[in-house]
Amino acid sequence: MGCRSLGISYRFRPALDKLKPYVAGRGIGEIARQYSIPADKIVKLGSNENPYGPSPGVKEAISSVPLHLYPETDELLQALASYTGFSRDMIVVGTGMDGVLDTLSRLFLEEGRSSAISTPTFSYYEILTRLAGAKPVLIPRDEDFRIDPDSLTGVDGSSMIFLCSPNNPTSNASTEEEVRAVVESTGAMVFLDEAYVDFAKKSLISMVSRYDNLIVGRTMSKAFGLAGLRLGYAVLPAPVADQYRRAAPPFFGLSTISVAAGVAALQDAAYMRRSVEKIRKERQRLISELPEAGPSQANFLYLETDRPSSEVAEALLRQGVIVRDCRSFWGAGENHIRVTVGTREQNDRFLEAYRRLC
Ligand code: PMP
Repeated sequence: MGCRSLGISYRFRPALDKLKPYVAGRGIGEIARQYSIPADKIVKLGSNENPYGPSPGVKEAISSVPLHLYPETDELLQALASYTGFSRDMIVVGTGMDGVLDTLSRLFLEEGRSSAISTPTFSYYEILTRLAGAKPVLIPRDEDFRIDPDSLTGVDGSSMIFLCSPNNPTSNASTEEEVRAVVESTGAMVFLDEAYVDFAKKSLISMVSRYDNLIVGRTMSKAFGLAGLRLGYAVLPAPVADQYRRAAPPFFGLSTISVAAGVAALQDAAYMRRSVEKIRKERQRLISELPEAGPSQANFLYLETDRPSSEVAEALLRQGVIVRDCRSFWGAGENHIRVTVGTREQNDRFLEAYRRLC
């Protein structure tokens, strides 16, 4: 049955006019169809996933989950408290770190306010700012991809500052001094995204106990290998956590399965650490094979390409290797790709395909 047009002019919010959909890494299914390559021959190194997946305890835990019941987050919060060393009143959870960011944006961003974003970086900060009707102010990193604390804290009317360390896509980490310089010179809430911190030398999460305006966001999607289940959390000052619980969706948007998986994964953090170790070793090998790769503190490399990144990414796709063309990152220019560190076999496939191009 067709839908009869009633000539309605939809009352969409004007903020939507300024938005483009979030650009994610390409998926195996779409590439298999588009390039007629069997799915099992495709190597996916475009979305910074962990090729080793989660602890085997996760599969076991989710197999006995009562699917007819709503989730209970108590045990998960307890597990996160033990894992982070923070008390439960300073921890919140959400549907991936994306969900955590979404709820936090409701606490701080609205029309007439702005956010400061250190670019190039994860694009969802800008999307959420615009969606709230606020103004994103994009502050470029320097030529070594370091943040600029003075400019970040000098933005008029800003109520949030977004930092990402290690940064997606540039792969470098900010120092404690740099983050301190931001936090101590602003009344805005500073969000420090530590999605990739398990692959880095150091976390700055302990700073949350010293500052009233610092939130550290984390995810179970990367080192813990649970990207498919959408589970994230943040450590934040207790009064901010109280407000978060008011603005969050019911059950924080979690499912019984994501809660059970999160608890099981946290109980076997040793498995996560072993997979991180393998990824670090492979990262070192890739860097030594690729002179154009800078140092990385994440599970991916940021590579400058001689040819336009769109051509390089496309040529790799034709060989069944998915990498991220970084043109969609504001400020990354036209000559960068981002490559996730995979298993040894996956990385060899990438190296072979990449060398064929260069
Ligand atoms: N922050 C950064 C820097 C990311 O790269 C990503 C994932 N691409 C996220 C947050 C979102 O992670 P999650 O899967 O937990 O929503």
